[in-house]
Amino acid sequence: MIEYEIPLVCLIFTLLITIIFFIKRKVEIEENNYYKNILVFTLLTNASNLIAHTLATIYAKDGISPTFALVFSIINKIGSLFIVIITINILSYVLYISFEKYRKKYKKMQILNGILYFIIGSAIMLLDFDVYKVGGGLTSGHGPSVYLTFGIAIGTLLVSFIIALFNYKKYDKRYFAIYIIIPIIILLGFFVMLRPEFNIYDLILSLLCYLMYFTIENPDAQMVEQINIAREQAEQANNAKTDFLSNMSHEIRTPLNAIVGFSHSLEKEELPNSAREDVKYILSASDNLLDIVNSILDISKIEANKLEIVNTQYDINEVLDDLVALTKARLGEKPIEFKTSFDASLPKVLYGDYVRLKQICLNLLTNSVKYTKEGFIEFKVDYIKKGDVVRLILSVEDSGIGIKKENIDKLFSKFERLDLEKNISIEGTGLGLAITKKLVELMGGSIVVQSEYGIGSKFTVAIDQRVVKADEIQIHKDVIEEVHTYEGKKILVVDDNKLNLKVAEKLLSEYKVTVQLVNSGDESIEKIKDGEIYDLILMDDMMPHKSGTQTLKELKTLPDFNMKVVALTANAITGMKEKYLSEGFDDYLAKPIEKQELTRVLNKFLK
Ligand code: ADP
Repeated sequence: MIEYEIPLVCLIFTLLITIIFFIKRKVEIEENNYYKNILVFTLLTNASNLIAHTLATIYAKDGISPTFALVFSIINKIGSLFIVIITINILSYVLYISFEKYRKKYKKMQILNGILYFIIGSAIMLLDFDVYKVGGGLTSGHGPSVYLTFGIAIGTLLVSFIIALFNYKKYDKRYFAIYIIIPIIILLGFFVMLRPEFNIYDLILSLLCYLMYFTIENPDAQMVEQINIAREQAEQANNAKTDFLSNMSHEIRTPLNAIVGFSHSLEKEELPNSAREDVKYILSASDNLLDIVNSILDISKIEANKLEIVNTQYDINEVLDDLVALTKARLGEKPIEFKTSFDASLPKVLYGDYVRLKQICLNLLTNSVKYTKEGFIEFKVDYIKKGDVVRLILSVEDSGIGIKKENIDKLFSKFERLDLEKNISIEGTGLGLAITKKLVELMGGSIVVQSEYGIGSKFTVAIDQRVVKADEIQIHKDVIEEVHTYEGKKILVVDDNKLNLKVAEKLLSEYKVTVQLVNSGDESIEKIKDGEIYDLILMDDMMPHKSGTQTLKELKTLPDFNMKVVALTANAITGMKEKYLSEGFDDYLAKPIEKQELTRVLNKFLK
């Protein structure tokens, strides 16, 4: 009957798996080491069985001589030790994936395993191993050494299975193969113990290696898992960076608020001409800084998926007029002809996010102004109408420095500034186009660039907007607010930042209102509890201890409280206004406070 054929086939089979396992690129993790041990010792067991059975075929045909019995038992005892090592590795593997503390004590566990191998190995070697003819030419053994091996092997496998059963919650999907592999190995183990004439030890071990390879230890599956972990870590780091950027920008806006506010009030003072010039420079530099900070806030909000598109009805002509006026102001004295071409039949009232639409166009127009020395800039708006939707085709073309072909791909990457040797004197962060592209995408549109280096560039944006039917129109026009004075009216300003309070006081002084300043939400609540009556409260939101929103909630629980409260905050991203209104504020003012906005709010509540 079969004697050495099965060990031979198994040896070749295990050898193939071992070769594939070791040559395949894989991530090196401790967990792999257990499988490596199992593979190597299976290979050694297969080899020792092959030797033992080949010897049996040659020398035990006609009976067992004492010399053959000695050699056969020694080789088999070594094979038994290998089987024990394999099963202890399975147990260690299960412990490793089940308990954090075993992972931490990996090195110690290895030493402990070494000691175990030594003790068990010595016992196997010292105990008796009786060689006998199983029949059909097959030779096997029994006796204490064999029973110890079976006992330890099946015992460790059972313990491993029980541990695995109790820890199933901690396992990744691929570990679930354990629940099939271990019972199969245990059953087969019992089977050969009862029927030694079925010489299938090697088959069992090779099967173990095979099953583990294609389920748990598959290097591809492990690689994917490691990649997923790395991706999660990268995402976390990116989020931390985004949070940092947005917190920093927020912190910068607060002092900037003070700089802008005080500079504006300085502008109104009687000043020597040189000082007047300086104030202008301060204002222009702070405007620039504010733009940069706003860009960082925008890009970080976009990346954190926190930027929302806020759709309202708007008058497209008003938006275009604003853009033309702003661009003309930016052109200043530059020898550039600014041409516009707007399709006169464009539907007047559209539904969409006009603030972001304006931002997109303004970024493109500002770039054209920045990167064109002379010649022309053309701002064109066409459209295609499909039912009640118009596809706006907005293009900005210039005769500027143009963009090199190899740079076109980098154009929309953040912090990427191109052609620096030419542009070094032009201010910029490299964020404008990255934000523009993301905004266009958020609005479901697309943007394309055509450019010839040295000749000029053309950016074209296509965005769909809904046309508002005549009977649905209800837009509130942005009227230019007139400044009125409100003697006798009393305003309370709540802000934890003393400088901001001073700015607010200065700005409000122009309206001749009576201003009271407090440093915290609690102080404002105290004032109102003391019976103070205000015509308007300007409440900062981000204050330590009690936020403006919390303070408002408390105020609203006071009996008969019906004063108007306006949120005042540097948290000036789109969508914030809606948020504050939904939290019960009567209106919203972004910091740095713009005079036009302040006038609007005062006219609304004090008139
Ligand atoms: P910034 O203008 O702040 O540097 P942008 O993201 O708006 O950042 O633009 C990225 C780069 O693309 C610019 O640094 C510039 O090199 C190039 N660029 C953008 N618009 C134009 C244009 N109209 N003509 C030539 N180059 C441009």
